[in-house]
Amino acid sequence: MPRTDTSPEKQAEIEAALNSALDAGNAVLSVGGTARQAVIAAICVLENNPLFNAGFGSVFTAEGGHELDASLMEGHTRKAGAVSGVRTVKNPICLAEAVMQNSPHVMLSGAGAETFADTQSCIERVAPDYFSTPHRLQQLQQTQTYERESASQDLKGKYFGTVGAVALDSHGHIAAGTSTGGMTNKRWSRVGDSPIIGAGTYATELCGVSGTGWGEYFIRAAVAHDICARMHYKGDTLAQAADAVLLQVVPDMGGDGGAIALDKDGNIAMPFNTEGMYRGWIHPDGSRGVAIFKE
Ligand code: ASP
Repeated sequence: MPRTDTSPEKQAEIEAALNSALDAGNAVLSVGGTARQAVIAAICVLENNPLFNAGFGSVFTAEGGHELDASLMEGHTRKAGAVSGVRTVKNPICLAEAVMQNSPHVMLSGAGAETFADTQSCIERVAPDYFSTPHRLQQLQQTQTYERESASQDLKGKYFGTVGAVALDSHGHIAAGTSTGGMTNKRWSRVGDSPIIGAGTYATELCGVSGTGWGEYFIRAAVAHDICARMHYKGDTLAQAADAVLLQVVPDMGGDGGAIALDKDGNIAMPFNTEGMYRGWIHPDGSRGVAIFKE
């Protein structure tokens, strides 16, 4: 998001929301909860806040609806769950967890994912228009006008606001999750990187990653998996691995975006090759921070 588009008031609202998500995750971890529970708690806060493109406040599809994607992975078990194109699930990250825990599958999509949700009493359902906000509608209209007038199908900059979290718990276990409404004006049941294990989300016993950016490139570069793989196979530090993928591989291919990453020693890396990326962090001693632009 360009600095010029972010007023001080908006910036304060975003920072408050990031702090609420940190509080929710930290509340779980500080009483011995699991990394997976912490990731879900933090992401639910962001999904319920219309400032972010996930859950309530998700971007519109070309048809004027919402198709939500989410994924979750636990490092030490390498278990994962994901959903794409859901329309009535209030918190898609919770459905991703249900897929991981209560189905024999990793990824469910569209109508099938909704049918599975019908069998899960813990999954809160909403009407499809619950996710709509006037701000996102305006973005859809602007995008459609721009595309009509310029005949451009360039996707650059049509995304932002995907949410993610990565946590390390007191057992030394890591989990990562990601949730999004995808891209404004998306068509043809387009699926981005966020629900794809290895692209938008990945976790191992060494590290966890959640990405945000131009999903088509994140899929092609297998961003989240590549960061972890560089640590496993090459012995890179977290920072070396995350920087190589986000600051070299993805931009060299023509894509953009960023990621949040955490390793088993508690090191954090949050590289991005855009002007800004909403981000926050909290350590076991309670020290914390939030940021939007490059410092
Ligand atoms: N990566 C997401 C997608 O392509 C969008 C985003 O990060 O905001 O669906």
